[in-house]
Amino acid sequence: MSTPQERHWDAVVVGAGFAGSLVAKGLGERGWRVLVLEAGAGQSHAEALEAYRTAPAKTPNSPYRSTPSAPSPDVTDLSGEAGGGFHADGYFVQRGPLPYASGYLRANGGTGLAWTGLAPRMHPEDFRAGDFGHGRDWPIGYQDLEPYYRAAEREIGVAGDAEEQRAQVGLPLPDGYRFPLRAIPRSYLDQVMSRALDGHSVRDPAGPAPVRLRVVGTPHARNSLPTPGHSVEGGSCVGHASCVPICPSQAKYTPLRTQARWRPSVHLLTRAVVSRVLLDAAGRATGVEYRGDPADGTRTVRADLVVLAAHAIENARLLLLSGAANSSDQVGRNLMDHPVLLTWGLMPRQIGPYRGPGSTSGLEGFRFGPARARRAPFRVEIGNWGWTWALGPPDGRVAELLRSGGPDGRGRFGTELRRTVADRVGREFAFQFEMEQDADPANRVTLDPRLRDPLGLPRPALHYDLSGWVRRGIAAAKGVSDQLFTLLGAEDLTSFAPGAGWPGYFEHEGRGYAYRAAGHGAGTHLMGTSPTDSVVDQWQRCWDHPNLYAVGCGSMPSVATANPSLTMAALALRSTEAIHRTLLARRRLNASPPALEGADHP
Ligand SMILES: Cc1cc2nc3c(=O)[nH]c(=O)nc-3n(C[C@H](O)[C@H](O)[C@H](O)COP(=O)(O)OP(=O)(O)OC[C@H]3O[C@@H](n4cnc5c(N)ncnc54)[C@H](O)[C@@H]3O)c2cc1C
Ligand code: SF4
Repeated sequence: MSTPQERHWDAVVVGAGFAGSLVAKGLGERGWRVLVLEAGAGQSHAEALEAYRTAPAKTPNSPYRSTPSAPSPDVTDLSGEAGGGFHADGYFVQRGPLPYASGYLRANGGTGLAWTGLAPRMHPEDFRAGDFGHGRDWPIGYQDLEPYYRAAEREIGVAGDAEEQRAQVGLPLPDGYRFPLRAIPRSYLDQVMSRALDGHSVRDPAGPAPVRLRVVGTPHARNSLPTPGHSVEGGSCVGHASCVPICPSQAKYTPLRTQARWRPSVHLLTRAVVSRVLLDAAGRATGVEYRGDPADGTRTVRADLVVLAAHAIENARLLLLSGAANSSDQVGRNLMDHPVLLTWGLMPRQIGPYRGPGSTSGLEGFRFGPARARRAPFRVEIGNWGWTWALGPPDGRVAELLRSGGPDGRGRFGTELRRTVADRVGREFAFQFEMEQDADPANRVTLDPRLRDPLGLPRPALHYDLSGWVRRGIAAAKGVSDQLFTLLGAEDLTSFAPGAGWPGYFEHEGRGYAYRAAGHGAGTHLMGTSPTDSVVDQWQRCWDHPNLYAVGCGSMPSVATANPSLTMAALALRSTEAIHRTLLARRRLNASPPALEGADHP
């Protein structure tokens, strides 16, 4: 058996995460010989579960084995300062006035191991963000992506209600379309919200008209029951409520499911950190350099085509390390995420939180329409996991009740403590307002040669801030939240103050706000219609290099308000066809094609 270095591959895919696993599968199915180089290590589901069970802090990365040569940014890297501002102590070098607060995971399977699994589509309007004067247009429209949305929904197993998505979100789904899996049942909290809110309107503090409320189910990449003609892999969702970071019953999609379907012509090499794309004098990619452990030397693999699928920030880092694809000076720029405003409180009665997925429904009416011109649009998730995202798990509240009890300031003990905890925790809920962030070239990933990772490679240095449009969106969301709490008769306990728990604290028009980040890094190698102002074309092919592709959310010119991974998956499937065509064209040019091993070739 030859080593990876001794063979010439049709394609090298960098990163065995969400996008890379899909591209590798598609290329393998078309008969190409693919080497997937993955920086992180692999581990079994049982090992990951055990690591999670024993982890002192249950963070998104906690179940997964870390690899010293490929560090990951973690949510614990950031803390707020008492007087405002923040402190960063981790893999990212933070240079902005505000922190880039999202993490990701460098392990086999990538961040899609730890993701929540919400899989809504973008709206047709989202592809024309520029119409509203904020953000950038896509070079393709919704209809270009529609067949690939369906393919992605099949591939990752999306549960949803097509009728509801059509009627309440305005998605033009094809006639007769059914999601592969039936919609995930609504939580009890969703039902309570629906009774209290449906049909009411709230004033949009920055919009021209009131917004009518309607609680709408969210499509999920987790197992319910299949619709006719479909099947499920993995167990059913039974409500363990630990989807982030790991689903014990394997009901949530992870890229390992796609990897299990790879054809034999796809080979995976873990603990292989790619450090550079190799380019010839004509600008063609000829392969990549990678390293294993810090003690190892650099190795090289050669291929006809290279696909970067290492996550938005790592893709940009690799392009910068390689001096590639940057004739437009846009590599690393336009870093986006979904800044999330959280509001939280107590419902008047028990609503059974901490069961089932983190959010099963939301309010969709703030995503679209002319208000987008004045403030960032947002999607509202109804949070089923109480105050976990805002304040941590309930044990912190038990300590607080022991210390100072309820409003009377008296500590609670014994039966009274148990009763109080049961009463309060059972009424906890939160709203999660996920903002669209506009593409701003000043928000960017750069490299600082003075600050290096264990392999000696420059770490990502990030400059991040929120535009006035996003800040207005956050302020409007708080105004909407105030009205929702009134309609619900709920006690609003939301409060932001500079301090350790709120690194994303900022002030806008005299009021304090804070954001968390959703893990939705995007925009660092965005697609466009011209090589002068974008990095990749509509097929995610680098304008500057005919056989170098950069796939993932980094290609998105606008991040819209939908959780991005379904759109990213649809783009990856679409690009796989283009990569296939590029490889075919290359083969036709090649006088003596290499013999294939173990695969039928197109
Ligand atoms: C807590 C959390 C919850 C989320 N929930 C949702 C959700 O509900 N819905 C949604 O749509 N999105 C969600 N996301 C976002 C989603 O996880 C990402 O959009 C998605 O995983 C990005 O896919 P990717 O393939 O680009 O990157 P990744 O999934 O991160 O994969 C990149 C892979 O490349 C590897 N790699 C990196 N550098 C190198 C290198 N130099 N050499 C070789 N390999 C390398 C990494 O190890 C990794 O395996 C969530 C994210 C987080 C953090
Ligand atoms: S709620 Fe539980 S069973 Fe369902 S996906 Fe999440 S962790 Fe898995």
